[in-house]
Amino acid sequence: MIKTKNPFNNKIIAEYKLHDNDDIGQIISKSAEAFKQWKTESIGNRTDLLHKVSLLLIERKQEYAELMTQEMGKPISQSLAEIEKCSQVCDFYVKNAAYFLADDLIVTDAKESFISYDPSGTILAIMPWNYPFWQVMRFAAPTLTAGNTAILKHASNTTGCALAIEQLFLDAGYPKNCFQTVLIEHDAIETIIAHETVTGVTLTGSEKAGRTIATLAGKHLKKSVMELGGNNACIILDDANLEKHIDTIVMARMQNAGQSCIAAKRFVVVDAIYDEFVEAFKNRLDQIKSGDPMASETEMGVMARKDLVDTLEKQVKTSVEKGAKVTYGNTIKGNYFEPTILEDVKPGMPAFEEELFGPVAAFIRVANKEEAITVATDSKFGLGTMIFTKDIKAAKKLILDIPDGAFFVNEMVKSDVQLPFGGTKASGYGRELSQEGILEFVNKKTVYIK
Ligand code: NAP
Repeated sequence: MIKTKNPFNNKIIAEYKLHDNDDIGQIISKSAEAFKQWKTESIGNRTDLLHKVSLLLIERKQEYAELMTQEMGKPISQSLAEIEKCSQVCDFYVKNAAYFLADDLIVTDAKESFISYDPSGTILAIMPWNYPFWQVMRFAAPTLTAGNTAILKHASNTTGCALAIEQLFLDAGYPKNCFQTVLIEHDAIETIIAHETVTGVTLTGSEKAGRTIATLAGKHLKKSVMELGGNNACIILDDANLEKHIDTIVMARMQNAGQSCIAAKRFVVVDAIYDEFVEAFKNRLDQIKSGDPMASETEMGVMARKDLVDTLEKQVKTSVEKGAKVTYGNTIKGNYFEPTILEDVKPGMPAFEEELFGPVAAFIRVANKEEAITVATDSKFGLGTMIFTKDIKAAKKLILDIPDGAFFVNEMVKSDVQLPFGGTKASGYGRELSQEGILEFVNKKTVYIK
C-alpha cells in the first residue's frame, strides 16, 4: 500500500494499492502491444497528440499545480511555473521532432546510405518527487514522440501526480497503454528491466539509486540514462556584480526549498568579496517569505518528507562537529527547515562532500580564482558549475577546467529545453532535452543500399 501525505499539515491525501506480479506482467505486455502500433504512427500524428498534451497542461495548470504542492510542499507559484515549463518542453518537440528524427544521409560507396532513427521499444522511467511533473515530462515528451512506449515508476510520495500524468496522455488521445504508471516497490523493478520488451531505463534520482539501477541495466544489457545528484559549486569572484545577481544567487540555492539537483550547494567565494557577499546573501534571506505552500506569496514551503529533514539536520550537525559554523537560520519546525548558512565549510565535512538536499548554503572562503577552481572541482559529482564575474573573456578560458555537464556564467545552472541536460562522474550519464534527449532511446540504424 502506498500512502501519500501532505508534508505541510501531515494529512493523508490518498492510499493506493500496489501492483502485484500479475498486474506488472500485464502492464508490460500491454506496453508491448501498444508499441507495435505506436511505432508505425507518422511523426506528424505523434506531434499532433503532443500538442494536445501541451494545451491540456495549460488548461489544467491550477489543478496539477495544487496536486504537486499538496504532495510535496512546493510553493504554489513554483508549481504553476513547473506546469508551464512542461508545456514548453512539449511545444519544443512538436516543433523540432520531425527534424531531429529525420534520416541522416551519409555519402559512402553505397548507392544510398543513411542513419534511420527507429523507435526502440518500451522505456522504463524511474522518477523523483522534487519536480514531479517536469522530470516525467522532460523524459516522456521526446521518448514517446520518438515512437517508444513508456512505463513510469514515480516516487511513491508523488503517486497522485504519476496517475494524473497517465490520465493526461489518455485525455490527449494517445493510444491506450502508450504511457502507463506502475505502482511498485524497489524489489519489483528488476522484473521490468529484465523483460525483453523493455529496451531501456532512465532514472532521475539519487546516486545510491543510480548505482542500483545502472547495475541492473548492465546485468540485463539495457541502455540506460542516469540523471543523479549534484553538489554544484557557485564561484563568486572579486569582480562579481552582487547588486545585480544576488537574487539569482540566493534562489539558486533556496528555490524548491533547496531540493533541486542543480541547485548551488557550495558557494566558493574569493576573500576580497567574501564579507560583502555574506551580508548581501543574509539580507536577501531576510526577505524570503516562508509559509503555507498553497499561498501565492510563499517563496519557501516545507521539505517533502520528514526523513529528508532528518538527513539534512544530521548533515548540518556533523559538519558543525567538524568545525563549520551556523551563521544564519537552522531552526526546524515539522517539515519546515529555515534557510540556513554554514560558514567555514571544508573538505571532509558532509556540507562539502555530500549533496545537501535542502535549504542549507555552504560557504567556503578562498584566496583567489585559481584556488576557487580547485575547490569547486573537488567533488565526486559533476552536474554543473556557475561563476559570477564581470570578466566574460577570462570566464570562457575556464570552460575546459570544469569537468561538469554544464557551466553557467552570471546565471544559475538551469535547464533549457533547447540545450542538453545531464551530468558527469557520480551525477550520472546520458543527456535529456534538446536533440540529444530525443536520440537517447532510439535505434540508430545503419541502412546501406548497394
Ligand atoms: P531517490 O530516493 O533516489 O528516488 C528516486 C526514484 O528512484 C524514486 O522513484 C524511488 O522510488 C526510486 N528508488 C530509490 N531507491 C531505489 C532503489 N534502491 N532501487 C530502485 N528504485 C529506487 O531520489 P529522490 O529522493 O526521489 O530525489 C532526490 C535525488 O534526485 C537527489 O539526489 C537529486 O539530486 C536527484 N535528482 C537529479 C536530477 C537530475 O536531473 N540529475 C533531477 C532531480 C533530482 P521510491 O519513491 O519508491 O523510493
